[in-house]
Amino acid sequence: MRVAAFSIKPYDTASLAAASAGLPIEWMWFEPRLDRHTARLAEGAVAINCFVNDQLDATTLDILAEQGVKLVTLRCAGFNQVDLAAAARLSLPVVRVPEYSPHAVAEHTIGLVLMLDRRLHKAYNRVRDGNFSLEGLLGFDLFGRTVGVVGTGRIGCRVAEILIGFGCRVLAYDPTPVPDLAARGVTFMPLDELLAASDIITLHCPLKPNTSHLIDSAALARMKRGAMLINTSRGGLIDTPAVIEALKTGQLGHLGLDVYEEEADLFFDDRSGSIIHDDVFSRLLTFPNVVITAHQAFFTQNALDAIASQTVRNLMHFNRGEPLEAVVRS
Ligand code: NAD
Repeated sequence: MRVAAFSIKPYDTASLAAASAGLPIEWMWFEPRLDRHTARLAEGAVAINCFVNDQLDATTLDILAEQGVKLVTLRCAGFNQVDLAAAARLSLPVVRVPEYSPHAVAEHTIGLVLMLDRRLHKAYNRVRDGNFSLEGLLGFDLFGRTVGVVGTGRIGCRVAEILIGFGCRVLAYDPTPVPDLAARGVTFMPLDELLAASDIITLHCPLKPNTSHLIDSAALARMKRGAMLINTSRGGLIDTPAVIEALKTGQLGHLGLDVYEEEADLFFDDRSGSIIHDDVFSRLLTFPNVVITAHQAFFTQNALDAIASQTVRNLMHFNRGEPLEAVVRS
């Protein structure tokens, strides 16, 4: 079975090739992102394999189906990049990797919190520069702080558990509250109340039409002055220009991002020799109280191995005509 894999990096080929060794999968590796201009590269493939910033809109899916593609596999949990209505119209099943390592993303989230709180990004450079002053590095104890977790699925639950370990007071909002977490002392409440009560707010819900710009100027105004906001979920959850305004006035005290709404044109490539034309992103980089990582929260060897094995399992189910696991439904 020929599989055209897009947005491929050397670490992907290593894990996918290892997971499919000896199986009848013939990979076609493509470094470019999948979109309507690159879709023709999949000629001859029965299945495609994509990542978070591939653009599986209706036109792209039409081109793929016309070329004989019968299955879309995602190397990720999120599926906001897929036009599911178009896939259904074309009878193209879409399968994903719903859980590979919630620990990877949860632990990175806590890393961002600690980095911003204890100014580790500044301390690292300062010590290397022979500057051992502590001026400007004053942080706060996480113990006793109130943290609001928005979305308590696989990752949000893990984040809440870690925060309980730190001795934080954990609040949560999810349309489907988790009884186990409530039993462990997490208080579920409406989003507005969570925003008003939290010192730190961390986002773990999916990007959908009703969560797009969940954090807008009104939500930011509801937060405690100087609160910390962390987003390791999807960039579109945040209205970035509104966040910049809140950073400028001090309403938002710290911002930690692993995702950015316009990341598709920036992340996953070395652009250190290029001019960044995204002025919103460039403005974010000027704040001392903003830390950005380039969608690396998932990036552990454990997660890559789990992504590869579930992807290969998804492909082999299809190849053998068995029922598909992890089918994405709208
Ligand atoms: P999940 O499906 O297990 O959990 C999502 C939770 O969000 C569910 O409990 C759901 O009820 C809740 N939810 C839905 N709508 C909501 C709303 N309006 N407000 C609050 N909560 C809402 O997903 P997960 O595995 O925990 O992943 C969460 C998100 O993390 C994914 O959607 C993905 O976008 C992102 N993610 C990022 C990375 C990364 O590397 N940065 C890696 C994996 C996943």
